[in-house]
Amino acid sequence: MFKALMVNKDDEGKTSAAVTEIGLDDLPEGDVTVAVEYSTVNYKDGLCIGPGGGLVRNYPHVPGIDFAGTVEASDDARYKPGDKVVLTGWRVGEVHWGGYAQKARVKADWLVPLPDGLSTQQAMAVGTAGFTAMLAVMALEDHGIKDGPVLVTGAAGGVGSVATAILAHLGHEVAAVTGRPETAEYLKGLGATQIVAREEINETTKRPLEAEAWGGCVDAVGGEMLARLLGQIKYGGSVAAVGLAGGAGLPATVIPFLLRGVNLLGIDSVMQPYDNRVRAWNRIASDLPMDKLETMIQPATLADLPQLGKDILKGQVKGRVVVDVNA
Ligand code: NDP
Repeated sequence: MFKALMVNKDDEGKTSAAVTEIGLDDLPEGDVTVAVEYSTVNYKDGLCIGPGGGLVRNYPHVPGIDFAGTVEASDDARYKPGDKVVLTGWRVGEVHWGGYAQKARVKADWLVPLPDGLSTQQAMAVGTAGFTAMLAVMALEDHGIKDGPVLVTGAAGGVGSVATAILAHLGHEVAAVTGRPETAEYLKGLGATQIVAREEINETTKRPLEAEAWGGCVDAVGGEMLARLLGQIKYGGSVAAVGLAGGAGLPATVIPFLLRGVNLLGIDSVMQPYDNRVRAWNRIASDLPMDKLETMIQPATLADLPQLGKDILKGQVKGRVVVDVNA
């Protein structure tokens, strides 16, 4: 038997989450059984643990949209017992049981071998949020980052923290947008050269075009923030749109696209093909300074998850929550 955070739904549709003991026979079907070492808390996990169950498609359910650990058993020639692996995406933790357990059974296709130089704990300090940040940076690079500071919104959160550290390491000036002024020193430690208050973007005039200010942007916030910053991107620059922490609406005009050739690049981490996932993880191992990653880590256990799920939905988590499932 082993420990898992199980989410249940009662006859009235009310969900509850509790740490419980389950066995290997309870796990869903898959080619590879993994002894999970670490998982994380992402915004989506907050939705899945919280009331209503968010994106969970079947109950009872083990959430956790990512994990890293060691292969225990494998029916697939690509993996053998003892191999270190990492998983993000593929609706694990929503449709298929995820990483909030000491063991997981998944399809081999969903896994990636842990890149050299990264421990399972470091891989989960990165996790889905950091993996997505890397995809966003790669998308900006593919379209060309213009001169001048690169804007990162929701900067003190998971995606924002990792994006800030990667962009700074790559030599870009980073303007970190945050609604929490108390995180300024933390963000400067990650390499941000400029701290921008949330209101400075949100409360600009609602003209479709403002002065050209930013060479590109990783946006984790969406909504009003994304609508406003589109009009501030330099000619031909790009915005990698990652998230909707500030709202799913987009009260923008087409003017920045028409008159400034701005590119809006949608980033999806869930259905990334294997080769892209390997490429992104290898870039993470080479372009994300591990000392900066250390400063992002907030350690947690399975028992902490119900509260942390609430915190992340309120935008109160700083950096990355790393869950030691064996603690
Ligand atoms: P976090 O909660 O860690 O970070 C989000 C940050 O956004 C907060 O820390 C806060 O930063 C800011 N924020 C929160 N609420 C608001 C608001 N109302 N207005 C403006 N800013 C706000 O979440 P993650 O970084 O893990 O995820 C960010 C977004 O990206 C989520 O929407 C998530 O679902 C999405 N996502 C998408 C993925 C994809 O594949 N496309 C993968 C992973 C995440 P601050 O305090 O600094 O302002």
